[in-house]
Amino acid sequence: MPGAMLIGDSAGLLNVPKIKGTHQAMRSGMLAAEHVAATGTTLGWDAKLRGSVVMKELRKVRNIRPGFDKGLWFGLANAGWETATAGLSPWTLKNHADHSALKKISEYESPNRDWTERTLPPRDRLASVYFSATEHDEDQPIHLHVANPDICVTRCTVEYNNPCNAILPGQRLRNRR
Ligand SMILES: Cc1cc2nc3c(=O)[nH]c(=O)nc-3n(C[C@H](O)[C@H](O)[C@H](O)COP(=O)(O)OP(=O)(O)OC[C@H]3O[C@@H](n4cnc5c(N)ncnc54)[C@H](O)[C@@H]3O)c2cc1C
Ligand code: SF4
Repeated sequence: MPGAMLIGDSAGLLNVPKIKGTHQAMRSGMLAAEHVAATGTTLGWDAKLRGSVVMKELRKVRNIRPGFDKGLWFGLANAGWETATAGLSPWTLKNHADHSALKKISEYESPNRDWTERTLPPRDRLASVYFSATEHDEDQPIHLHVANPDICVTRCTVEYNNPCNAILPGQRLRNRR
């Protein structure tokens, strides 16, 4: 895209095995600013990013997530290999498109896990945070914002069954309005 500079998550710079992306977002943002300040143009950004420490870090872990597309055991063995060799494999495995991974519930058949009916009382939010074993300051600012919380109780419930409940059971969401 002429004139555009992709940085952070929009450029897919998250380190997936670590699930860390804020340092990559900051690094690439600073690098983009330096590039424009030094050259006066966005041209050459792709090559600049690819030659930077940002991509050096991702190169080491590039094969780890795609390895799990071939099954759990292959994925684990492959992750061990890629970690031990710091990504020095001469090959690069293909990955699926990120957006294709989340299916709508109407397209998904729930697996039968033979779960036992729980007799425990439902946990409130504070208890869920306690059981998730997170550690943070009580007055830490909330960093996860939902721009339009109406979607949470309408479209997201109908189409996706609120997946964030499974990802972050103790998360605190704040209405931005
Ligand atoms: C649940 C969760 C937990 C995570 N935990 C960690 C962790 O512990 N450590 C870590 O390092 N990383 C973590 N990450 C990853 C990290 O949050 C991201 O890699 C990082 O925030 C990416 O930063 P970014 O600036 O590229 O994008 P974002 O932080 O997503 O910022 C993009 C911004 O653009 C805004 N925006 C979008 N569209 C428009 C528009 N049209 N006009 C104007 N503004 C717009 C959005 O509202 C948003 O504020 C986590 C991610 C998730 C989802
Ligand atoms: S995943 Fe969670 S935060 Fe996102 S729209 Fe659905 S309910 Fe809201």
